Amino acid sequence: MDVSYFIAKPNSIVELTKIKSDYTGDYKSKSDAKADLKKNIKKMSGLQDKLYAEDKYSLLLIFQAMDAAGKDGTIKHVMSGLNPQGTQVFSFKQPSAEELNHDYLWRINRCLPERGRIGIFNRSYYEEVLVVRVHNLVDKEKIPKELITDKIWQQRFREINDFEKHLYENGTVILKFFLHISKEEQKNRFLQRIEKKSKNWKFSEADLKERKFWDEYQKCYQEAISETSKKHAPWYIIPADKKWFMRLAVSQIIIETMEKMPVNYPQLSKDQEKKLAIYKQALENE
Ligand code: ATP
Ligand code: MG
Repeated sequence: MDVSYFIAKPNSIVELTKIKSDYTGDYKSKSDAKADLKKNIKKMSGLQDKLYAEDKYSLLLIFQAMDAAGKDGTIKHVMSGLNPQGTQVFSFKQPSAEELNHDYLWRINRCLPERGRIGIFNRSYYEEVLVVRVHNLVDKEKIPKELITDKIWQQRFREINDFEKHLYENGTVILKFFLHISKEEQKNRFLQRIEKKSKNWKFSEADLKERKFWDEYQKCYQEAISETSKKHAPWYIIPADKKWFMRLAVSQIIIETMEKMPVNYPQLSKDQEKKLAIYKQALENE
């Protein structure tokens, strides 16, 4: 799989209508992809082990999508082989009263992955240029009125770019995934949630209301991705109509990124190595 196919090229305009949401590359079916996904999950576990042991870099994975595109399932499957101690998952919902008493990155800062960890954001600060933009919620955010101008979204793109650059320059590698589902497939998934008893709990009337704003969301996603896909913090647009392909693509991108990170098991000094030999002997002579 050539993962560069999914990347939103920095400094270019993304047009989501031109990107296939049911693409599956050379894979024909779920069973076709099964073995590769399994292999990837195993590989990821080895890479995580090194990241954790070295304790210097961290990896931040951001998942954004329309409702029912499969954020939860992708996080669950792709991360299933990882050591839970080395992962930190956060979901971002409507901000609380306490969170609204701060700037929008305040709550994010508290959730960033520690060094050596893989952090997963289920939604993120990108909601600030998505749902907040679609529903014009910015007036409810307690920002001084005179600071809210028609440049607010451009300003936020810049703030987000600055924030991500700062993280990158301090050892956090960032990958951003937009799970790209078609409107038709969203309808199918909502119908499944209604028809299948075990999925009823996932159905929410609010999701149907948001579906009415589909075009507005797509426009905002397009602009957000175009403005903030950078070499050091790329957006990947993942075809999400076929869940099995989406999971495989995400895992492949994570692996290829981790393989490029200059992460190694900590090296012992000559002195420390000598001490290990002494400890070994002491244990053996017990
Ligand atoms: P699920 O798959 O379980 O439905 P979800 O991520 O949709 O997961 P919900 O609790 O249904 O979770 O919805 C969270 C809601 O919070 C979303 O509609 C999202 O747009 C909204 N939200 C997230 N961040 C912000 C924000 N900064 N301002 C306003 N709304 C936000
Ligand atoms: Mg929801």
